Amino acid sequence: MAEAGPRWALVCHGGAGAISRDRLRPEQEAAYREALTTVANAGAAVLRAGGSSLDAVEAAIQLLEDDPLFNAGRGAVFTAEGRIELDASIMDGATLAAGAVAGLSTTRHPISAARAVIDGSDHVLLGGEGADAFARSQGLEQADPGFFFTEARWKSLERALGKLGLPIPPKPLDAASDARAALAHDEGKRGTVGCVALDVHGNVAAGTSTGGTTAKRWGRVGDSPLIGAGTYAANAAAAVSCTGAGEYFIRLGVAHRICALVEHGGLSLQRAVERVVQQDLTALGGEGGVIAVDPHGHMAWSFNTEGMYRARIADGEPLVVGIYEDES
Ligand code: ASP
Repeated sequence: MAEAGPRWALVCHGGAGAISRDRLRPEQEAAYREALTTVANAGAAVLRAGGSSLDAVEAAIQLLEDDPLFNAGRGAVFTAEGRIELDASIMDGATLAAGAVAGLSTTRHPISAARAVIDGSDHVLLGGEGADAFARSQGLEQADPGFFFTEARWKSLERALGKLGLPIPPKPLDAASDARAALAHDEGKRGTVGCVALDVHGNVAAGTSTGGTTAKRWGRVGDSPLIGAGTYAANAAAAVSCTGAGEYFIRLGVAHRICALVEHGGLSLQRAVERVVQQDLTALGGEGGVIAVDPHGHMAWSFNTEGMYRARIADGEPLVVGIYEDES
């Protein structure tokens, strides 16, 4: 008989990239560890109380979206035009129900807009102004450009546009920033947040939310709002959330590929994430990482960047927070 795993489990991430000890100041590192601890504990509280994996994923990601340390919601990176265009997706492994949004600019919590697509529409993916209008119609909180603005991300935009030889757009009006936002680290143009969870009912779920890439143009959309690329969940396999160079994750269908290796290839979850990240993604030249959980409570992560902000916690198991490559 299979060994009984934890009754619930949760893994979250805050992006992967050029994150190393010599790049992060001690106060930045402390802020990221504290944030990941808060988020993982909040998600765990939902699961411990018997809540659904979908609710835990949404709750954890809302906190990450509100935290200006991370490239999602408040603190998201800017497009070349100086706008915020937010992408998110969420998937229920029990039913394969999925919702996603791309290019939101006024909705405070894109992950909740993605969730509302499941509950309040017949669709899977909504984009642009229509997606914001849908979120409004569902009663989701709206915010001004100044709410999302942080000085650190604006500086990153100015640097990126300088390299590209593109003009600097005017700063959004009413731009406010605070001391915490100043601790945000530039992981190298990107960043994303995500969460995967298993609940006591045996169901897995996954969600991902991002501002995309600094200085993106032409309505560029990455992997994060694409079901199968940046997010996938199926009780027959696992729940997966990705972060990294979206164009590569899209071409490999990374999240679904991991699930397919588990469901049809018979690989353990850890072997499947390592195979796809360390072999397939690396061979294609893509950088990034993934987190995953399966219905047996196995938790896994893998990344081929210098670091990935990450945390995991499960019933009867202690919280583990990691940033650098040499941490467990
Ligand atoms: N995957 C995100 C995108 O390509 C960015 C990231 O995760 O760093 O939009």
